[in-house]
Amino acid sequence: MWTDTRPAVEMPRLFERGGDLISFAGGLPDLDVLPLDVISAQLSRLLRLGGKLALQYTTPHVAGALVPAITDLMAREGGRTTAENLVPTGGSQMGLMAVALGLAAPGETVLCQTPAYPGAAAAFRTAGLHPHAVPEDAEGLDPEGLRETVRRLRADGRTTRLLYCNPTFQNPTGATLSVARRGELLTVARELDLLVVEDNPYGLLGFDGRTTDTLQGLDPDRVIYLGTFSKVFAPGLRSGWIAAPAELASTLRRTTEIMALSPSALAQATLAAFHTRSGWTDLIDAYRASYRERSALMADALDAELGADGPWSWQRPDGGFYIWLRHRDGVDTNTFADAAAEHGVSFVPGSHFGIGGENADALRLCFSHVPKKRIAEGISRLAAALGQRAAE
Ligand code: PMP
Repeated sequence: MWTDTRPAVEMPRLFERGGDLISFAGGLPDLDVLPLDVISAQLSRLLRLGGKLALQYTTPHVAGALVPAITDLMAREGGRTTAENLVPTGGSQMGLMAVALGLAAPGETVLCQTPAYPGAAAAFRTAGLHPHAVPEDAEGLDPEGLRETVRRLRADGRTTRLLYCNPTFQNPTGATLSVARRGELLTVARELDLLVVEDNPYGLLGFDGRTTDTLQGLDPDRVIYLGTFSKVFAPGLRSGWIAAPAELASTLRRTTEIMALSPSALAQATLAAFHTRSGWTDLIDAYRASYRERSALMADALDAELGADGPWSWQRPDGGFYIWLRHRDGVDTNTFADAAAEHGVSFVPGSHFGIGGENADALRLCFSHVPKKRIAEGISRLAAALGQRAAE
């Protein structure tokens, strides 16, 4: 039984509202960019012409009409896949749970890049697995540290086969693993016979439109790729996919069938219609532009309010949803939570992204959905909350 009392994922924080609160907590996309009139016309046509199929149960396969959308999206980051490799999910959170239940046995250790998306560790623990942090250096996930960690764990009699990572515009740091590091990581994975679980919701959201080849594209036989429509379309459809070597994909199809019988036929049909009639390029560009602007507003406000020489360090992100602040003297950011609430601002404390409480000296700010005119005000409130605490 999982007894961790922290929020399982981020959900409690996603919907926090109230009065004048400016929330930098939940990682919500900016749905103002969605062409709702276009989608609504496509949906109404879809229901008129194919409603009975779109509203029926379906098989645990990606709908044929949706396969080209997925191969198109993955190819934009060098990914390679075909229908036999694909498993539909209700988003990457379900993908994580399916991998945890279908491809590992209770008691196994799962290696995790940290800081990590809390929903990953929660899924692994719920399936009876033990998340274990992999060392990082200045360039991120450290392949040499990975090798050492696996050797040590195996020498201790632990079984470990899965490595979880979120290598592009990582939640929560915004960092991207270099191409050279990706190659080294895969070399170590081959040497130690690890399967790499690549969680990639943000890869297409680089502010300048540049992408980095996915681990999946570099080694499709060793990578279980978690894709999602949550950040390149909308999370409300609860639709995503796993791309995995064919044999693992059929195991995962059995697992997802047990979890949910079938994916949403309506969601898949909606996405397939959008791919055929509109394509993703304009929508992804619109998302990128929104996040580029918001991240610049937040980073400028942080420069102005916290300065470069103060106790906080951070990097300007190149993509994704987040800015990660770290306290140079290691102060636990949970201690700022009350002050933040008093000042009407919120963030997620870094300890939520640790496997065993580490990263408590950091905090995550999300800019993706905050109204532009509220960002500077929110950062000024945050600075007051952090400053108030520091002055005590
Ligand atoms: N993985 C990461 C790294 C995430 O940031 C998120 C969403 N915040 C998810 C998985 C889950 O996303 P979804 O289930 O909506 O695809």
